[in-house]
Amino acid sequence: MVTSNSGELRSIANVVESVATYEGEGFLVHRPFPSRALADIDPFLLLDEMGPVDLGPGEAKGAPDHPHRGFETVTYMLQGRFEHKDSHGHSGSLNPGDVQWMTAGAGVVHSEMPAKEFTRTGGRLHAVQLWVNLPRGDKMMKPRYQEITSDRIPVAQSSDGTVEVKVIAGEALGQRAVIDTRVPITYLHFKLQPGASVEQLVPAGYNCLAYTLEGAGLFGKEQERVERGHLVLFGKDGRAVKIAAPKHNTSASSVLLLSGKPLNEPVARYGPFVMNTQEEVRQAIVDYQHGRMGTITG
Ligand code: FE
Repeated sequence: MVTSNSGELRSIANVVESVATYEGEGFLVHRPFPSRALADIDPFLLLDEMGPVDLGPGEAKGAPDHPHRGFETVTYMLQGRFEHKDSHGHSGSLNPGDVQWMTAGAGVVHSEMPAKEFTRTGGRLHAVQLWVNLPRGDKMMKPRYQEITSDRIPVAQSSDGTVEVKVIAGEALGQRAVIDTRVPITYLHFKLQPGASVEQLVPAGYNCLAYTLEGAGLFGKEQERVERGHLVLFGKDGRAVKIAAPKHNTSASSVLLLSGKPLNEPVARYGPFVMNTQEEVRQAIVDYQHGRMGTITG
């Protein structure tokens, strides 16, 4: 937390409502970007909020075998249980509060499916997936995983206890994340009690955005009110961003705050492949079709 006057706070550049769309086997996601209103926010390529939705027995859907190359997918499970399997023989499960930071690099084929038990019983599903671009020199790196269970994610509180933050990447309120990122990124999950506020330092030149998961929030130098399911893109004009929860809220506001150092490289993307040139994208398609990203066995 910093103490700053409003001259040092970033203003709001844009506010975008997420767009409902379907993914995988047909599960509903809310996507603030990329959309018609907002392209990528270098180095971030996509943000999807799955749910929150209450599913009956047998209703849960997932994303069966599909490839990725050239970037990272970061899955943050809020409610529900998912299972992950891939072409390198890796598998794992995601429970509430867990984060999986997958660096696809040169290529993986993976499946992201609801856990069998969760499908059987049904229940509330709520998760977030972020795509982070990789710099040119890392696009063909060996795939790697960082699976961080909820109990290993540092949590910090403001001195008055009205603000809590989970530090998924980067640093906040004196806590540092355990996840290692290829490009400098901050990924924070704030919970603010009604009337609470927090300021977070953002390095000059970094792109910074907030996404409201629950409750309204007040954002930027202007302290503009933004409802849930919206993305706030900050300008690059200050050294910190301010987030607050309206005084008259009846429950805590839940907000994701992301910032990252832009790569400033050309982006050529086609579905699950994000490279620097169209030729590299064509090569990714050919490599996938020839099984060079492997297949899932077992
Ligand atoms: Fe995927």
